[in-house]
Parts: sequence; structure tokens; C-alpha cells
Amino acid sequence: MAKRSLFILMCIFSLTIGITSAQDAQPGADGVGDKLYPLSGNGGYDVQQYDLQLMWDNKTGAIDAQTTIKSIATQDLSAFNLDFIGFDITKLTVDGKDTKFSRKDSELTVDAAVTKGKTFETVVAYNGNPSQVKDSLTTGWIAVKDSVIVISEPVGAQGWFPSNDHPSDKALFTYEVTVPKAYQVAANGLPDKPVENGDNNTYKFAINKPMATYLATINIGKFKTVEQTGPDGLPIVNYFPPDFTDPEKAFTRQPEILSFLSEKFGPYPFDVSGGIVVNQQIGVALEAQTRPIYGTDASELVVAHELSHQWFGDNVSVATWDQIWLNEGFATFAELLWIEHINGKNALDHTIQRRYDELQGLYRFSKDDLISSLESGQLPDVQLTPEKVGQLLHLLMDSAATKADIDAVVAKLPKDGAKVTQLGALMKSIPVQGQIVLKTIDFYKFNSIITGEPLAADAEQKTAPNLHGPADVESGDMMFDGSVYQRGGLALQALRLKLGDDTFFKLLQTYVSQYAGKNVTTTDFTSLAEKISGQDLKDFFQRWLYDKPLPPITELGLS
Ligand SMILES: [Zn+2]
Repeated sequence: MAKRSLFILMCIFSLTIGITSAQDAQPGADGVGDKLYPLSGNGGYDVQQYDLQLMWDNKTGAIDAQTTIKSIATQDLSAFNLDFIGFDITKLTVDGKDTKFSRKDSELTVDAAVTKGKTFETVVAYNGNPSQVKDSLTTGWIAVKDSVIVISEPVGAQGWFPSNDHPSDKALFTYEVTVPKAYQVAANGLPDKPVENGDNNTYKFAINKPMATYLATINIGKFKTVEQTGPDGLPIVNYFPPDFTDPEKAFTRQPEILSFLSEKFGPYPFDVSGGIVVNQQIGVALEAQTRPIYGTDASELVVAHELSHQWFGDNVSVATWDQIWLNEGFATFAELLWIEHINGKNALDHTIQRRYDELQGLYRFSKDDLISSLESGQLPDVQLTPEKVGQLLHLLMDSAATKADIDAVVAKLPKDGAKVTQLGALMKSIPVQGQIVLKTIDFYKFNSIITGEPLAADAEQKTAPNLHGPADVESGDMMFDGSVYQRGGLALQALRLKLGDDTFFKLLQTYVSQYAGKNVTTTDFTSLAEKISGQDLKDFFQRWLYDKPLPPITELGLS
């Protein structure tokens, strides 16, 4: 009897649990609530690890792939979403069972119930040609003739593997990439020896510390491996195009840059470093975790920028995309530190002045610099009337030369005027006082005078600087602008001057160690700054990080 009643009790108990969980189980949200990318990421689970296996067909550019995602449910789920664009899905299982799914735009909904706290494994097999993700930037898997470049910030990862595509869900990764023997794979993470597989080779890489999805990269092409050793024996494995000689000496100094950054920010956070240089100029670089991607045009300063992201962005990551200055402002500040370290205080001040000016749409030149930048700008071989020559000289030189001196040169011109390419020579004979200052609109006016095409009616408005606080980012196309990068970097330099080096670098090192592997908001940083300095910094941060007007340059130690 007792047993029976206990049995009944247990039945009721488990029934109750069953009913409760059935009632509570809800579909996971289709986004994490990011202001800039509402459908980026998903709710209800936390990814622990992605295992990506893919085979690339060099003839069609298609991939045949399988992504295994190990996650923990953070709520009772009746279904959950992944972010994924394109491809034919040939199989989808959850914990080994075939599972129904549906797709709408970038959302893949998986009809699997999972109890809160349970670890579960989702396997998605798919094939086809990856889609680039068109946002303010084109990102993701970019097929270039006979090669592949993958740059996924901010939401390009979902264009090549199903994922919880938001930086707030970081996870471990492994890649197994199979390519024909004539090609090599340059990815991020710790490389293993390639395994021969018939006519193909399989390349393996492992990311052993949590990484945001946008930092995953797999590049396919022709590469040679060049190794270096960093601080404390850190292995540096570079992938360069076969004939790349590092003309800028950008990569030669990586060990020195890593040592310098480690001194300033604390120990390098990962188990390997290096760079991937793809065989063309791409004009951008991305801080792929452990091993950033560059074009052949990368400079030493770009390398310092991307390596500093290993601390700021990769190890300590943003909680939402509107906090992007915590990545870019810090990496731009690291550029200032490197300039000061290599070229001294004057070079630092010169750079700060230039960047401060550029934020306001102002460009300063000495006469010689302006002439040489004109002459290196491949000017068209066009004949100009004396009147047009006069307009151009006034446009370029009014800020530093007198009207009379400019007019005197114009008056001596022959009737048929002069060629555009003679402008530099004419400028040489005009005396100037101080620096020449040009605005962004002046470059447009310059072209308009030469070509005779009128300026667009909204040119003045369009070229006006878009001043905003680096921590006040309202849309995706503001994420990568000068206010986020340059003003973010200058805000940190102003903070450094306000707190003094000892307190300031203690703050940066504490911030990195306290939030290692985690996600942060601006408030995490500003609160820590107040705590460590013992100062009330609310007004300072309000003016530098949130208000529109640029604070005075005196706060950067310049007048
Ligand atoms: Zn950056």
C-alpha cells in the first residue's frame, strides 16, 4: 500500500513536472535583442562548441559541409532558431534524431524540445554556394577567382555556417577543411598537420578559447607558412601568398608588437598568433581570433591595430554591436601607443592633431606636402583656362596665402592657361603663412572645377562631419566611422592624460583580466575606471563618449 501510494505520488509528481515543462517550454527567441541587428543571434541556448567540416570544390566554388553545434538550453525549449542563409540543408539532427525544421530569410527554426540545463547536439549537413551577407559592408564567404576570403564582421558568419550569430554567444571551434591538393587553407586557431585524403588534403584548426562567430575565418588559395616566435615562446604562424616578401615590413615586427602590447595590456590571451595575408589588396583587415586577415596592402600600423584586438574585441568582446567602440576605439588607441613607442612624443602629438582635425572634416598640409600629394594623385592631363587655374589655386591656398599673391601668379599665365599637372609648380611660387587647411568639400569642389561637372546640391551636407559620441551608435553604418574609431581612441588618450599612466594602464589590465573571455558594455568599462581611479568621471565620459560635440583638444595635451 505504501509502495503503491508512493508510486501514485511519483506518477502525479512526474505528471506535474511533465505538464509544467510542457506549458513552460517556449520557442527560443529569433534574436538576442541587439538594437542594430535585431535578428542576429537567438534566445534559449548557449553554444559551447562548433565543429565545422567542409569540402570545397575549386571548379564550382560550392561547399559540401556539416556543422555540429553543442549547446546548453537556457530555458525549456519547444523549438529554437539558428541564423543561416542559403544552401540546401540535406540533413538536420538533434541528439542524433532527424528533426523537422523550417526556414524564413536568415532564420532556421529547429522543431526540437529541449529541457533547460540540458546539453544537446545539433548537426546540420548542407551544400551549395555560400552567400555573401549584404549589410553596410559585404561580408561572409567571398569567392574570389580561384580562392576564398572569409571576413564576417558583423553578421557574415550565417552566410557560411548555421550559428548563434552574435558576439554575446562565444564558443570553442574546430575546423576540418578539405581542398584539392593544389590549394592550401589558411584559417585561424592552432593548426594541425594537413592529412592527405586522395586528391585532397584536409586541414585542421582548433580555437581553444571562446570566440565570437564573426571572428571565424577560413581562407583558401595558395599560401606559404612563415613562422616566428613571440613573447614567452608564443608560436606565430603566418600564411602568406607564395611570392609575398612583406614589402612594408608589417609582419616582421609582429613579435616586437606583441611584446609591447603584452606589456601595456597584460599577457597575450591565446595559444597562437600570426597573420593571414590574402593575395590581393583588400583595403580592410579583420581581427580573426589568434590570426587576423590582411590584404597585401597592410601596414605595420594596421598589424598593431589588429593584434591589439586580440585583447580588445576577441578576448573581451562586446555584448551588443552598438558597443563597438570598445573594440575599435581601443584598437585605434593601441595605434597611438605604437606610434609613440616607435616615433616618439612629437609623432604622437602630430597624429592626434591630424585625427582630431579629420573628425571635424579638416585636413592640414604644409605647402610641400600638399604639392606632393597632388602630384602623387595621378592628376588628369587636362588644359585649364586661366580663370579655372585661379579658382583652383584660391580653393587650395586661400587658408594660408594672400589673394594678391595668388592673383599675381594667375595674371602671369598665358592665354591658354595651364595644365592640371602644372598646378604644383604654380603653387611653389606662392608664399604661404602657416599650414594650408582644407575641408572635405574642397576635394569635391576641386574635381568639379576640373571636370566642369557641377557639385551635387547636397554635397555640402553630405561631406559635413557626422559627429557623434563613440558609444552612441544608432545604426549599422555608424559602426565603422571616424567617431567610433578615431574619437574612441582619442577618448582613451584623454582618459590616460586625466588619470596618469600608472592608474590608466592598471585600469586597462584589470579590465582585460576581469572580463577575459566575456562580454562587456561601456558601463562595465566606465564603472571600473571610476572604481580604480577613485574619481567621479561621469562628466568626462558623457562628453567624450556620448555627446555630439568634440571635447576641446586641450584635453589631449594640445592647444
Ligand atoms: Zn579594428
